[in-house]
Amino acid sequence: MKNQEKIRMLIFGPPGAGKGSQAPKIVKAYGVKHLSTGDMLRAAVAAKTELGVKAKSAMDAGDLVSDDLVCGIVAEALKKCDKTGFMLDGFPRTVNQATVLEKQLTSAKTPLTHIINLVVPFELLEERICGRRIHKPSGRSYHVKFNPPKVEGKDDKTQEPLIQRNDDCPEALTKRLEKFNSETQPILKLYKDKGIIINVAGDNTFEIIEKQINVSLSAQVN
Ligand code: AMP
Repeated sequence: MKNQEKIRMLIFGPPGAGKGSQAPKIVKAYGVKHLSTGDMLRAAVAAKTELGVKAKSAMDAGDLVSDDLVCGIVAEALKKCDKTGFMLDGFPRTVNQATVLEKQLTSAKTPLTHIINLVVPFELLEERICGRRIHKPSGRSYHVKFNPPKVEGKDDKTQEPLIQRNDDCPEALTKRLEKFNSETQPILKLYKDKGIIINVAGDNTFEIIEKQINVSLSAQVN
């Protein structure tokens, strides 16, 4: 890796590709800050902040929140990552967001160093997303079939109830996948000549995907 001091990465893939499961592991392994726009927005909705109130209806419907709102929260969060490096998760989701991000990172002379691109066939995504269950206070994520909790509907650690996200239903998912295809996937074109994209097959078990990411990243980071 040329710019040795910090890892500044982006985890990329459609909803259900496994970004949310893999990201905490990578973040821990490499000591970078996890910047998930979905988590930031859900926290704002729960706290009923001005941002949360503006974002809620778009999120519930499976639509994208406006670029201005999302770019604003990311720009603020990035300013606090100088010393740690970061992993962006769920951002950028449009070419416009990617362009705004590139401007900020270029002017700070801190370009992205890696893009982990999780590649998953679309047929697998619905089963993965619609079976997902979340423990809201901690963000722990389960799947009714692939990663069930020890007791149905209960968090393993606290025994508190698990919830299904409003946008993890088939209706909202179809819209989210269409948006991903039309608005998010084209972002990769911006980065294709920079030599920073790591393609990882995301249609494997969690453990295999994790191993593949680690092998590819450590080959580049060390
Ligand atoms: P996620 O947890 O990443 O699937 O995000 C959940 C929802 O938050 C998305 O369906 C969008 O409504 C909203 N969201 C998250 N990140 C973005 C983004 N970069 N741009 C626009 N909307 C976003």
